[in-house]
Amino acid sequence: MKKRFIMAPGPVSVAPEVLLKMAEPMMHHRSPQFSAILTEVRENLKYLYQTDNDVLIFASSGTGGMEASVTNLLSRGDKAVVVRGGKFGERWAEICEAYGVVPINIDVEWGEAVDPAEVQRVLDANPDAKAVFVQAHETSTGVKHPVQELGEMLKGRDAILVVDAISAVGVYDLKTDEWGLDVVVTGSQKSLSLPPGLAMVSVSEKAWRMAESSNLPKYYFNFLKERKAIAKETTAYTPAVSLIIGLREVLAAIREQGLEALFAHHRRLSDATKAGVEAMGLRLFSKAPSEAITVIEAPDGVNGQDVVKILREEYGITIAGGQAQLKGRIFRISHMGHLSDWDMIVALAAVERALGALGHAVEPGAGVAAAQRVFAGA
Ligand SMILES: *Cc1c(COP(=O)(O)O)cnc(C)c1O
Repeated sequence: MKKRFIMAPGPVSVAPEVLLKMAEPMMHHRSPQFSAILTEVRENLKYLYQTDNDVLIFASSGTGGMEASVTNLLSRGDKAVVVRGGKFGERWAEICEAYGVVPINIDVEWGEAVDPAEVQRVLDANPDAKAVFVQAHETSTGVKHPVQELGEMLKGRDAILVVDAISAVGVYDLKTDEWGLDVVVTGSQKSLSLPPGLAMVSVSEKAWRMAESSNLPKYYFNFLKERKAIAKETTAYTPAVSLIIGLREVLAAIREQGLEALFAHHRRLSDATKAGVEAMGLRLFSKAPSEAITVIEAPDGVNGQDVVKILREEYGITIAGGQAQLKGRIFRISHMGHLSDWDMIVALAAVERALGALGHAVEPGAGVAAAQRVFAGA
């Protein structure tokens, strides 16, 4: 059996201690024991999100949380500004269209962050827009959008800011309340180092007012029903019990080490990996790079998909390629999940070797040495 590593931006590596907890005998979800766990998880989610608002938990992938944010907040025929700078920005627009919400798209060059002045201009031209949909971190391009500025901009307006932070919450400092992020969506299988299957959504007072008048069709994903269930220390429907038990473990560990340590961990892996990539003579794709992933441009003459394939099939290492128009042009190494310095050394060494095999010679150890220097603080 081959030793395997997973360093793709979701699903990510899960700590063995967490996997073992999730394998314990099933607990009934309407029991005092489970209610106590839910209450603890909800409190710790607020800490992670840096919010005083409730964080709703649904059993779905992250996209379920995105869809729920459209169907619970908007109404038929509403206009919404959508920042489209990658695969996930496109998803916001697709969900809006699926439900009869009219997206006003701001198309941003893939690899670049949206200019807040452009959002301001579009909002001024569309004063009736009910929401702005954006990614905190667009995982397909590795770009961080300036959601803090957008939050400030929307504070004095009626429109709400809905942030897909599936690869941002728990990665870097994202201040939900302080920055005025009305709705923040995340999922279990990225920075929370859990298997896929949970979506979490925080909802501000301003957003709750919109939820109360929303008339889009919804059933399972119902914010108001979930809020009522929270008051009773339960969930509206059967929750993903095992995943919530895993989430409890992860959040307790985060709480113990503190948010700063969590952010520093991702920064460290990211800084070292980026230094390694540049030392190999490769270019970073993102103009506003994040601590969640490193996005690498495939050098001339190399197809990024071949790098991904050699790593997976020959070395047992899963990284990610590019999506849509970036397929073949980039490859991506995740810093999310149960990872340490040594995993990044493995990823860099593997990329060095794969590039050599593909005819793009890299001095063996060049990337690894640069990463080692960052890790050693030299
Ligand atoms: C992974 C991801 C999603 C989608 O999540 P699924 O869990 O695959 O539904 C949405 N947005 C961003 C930014 C992501 O990274």
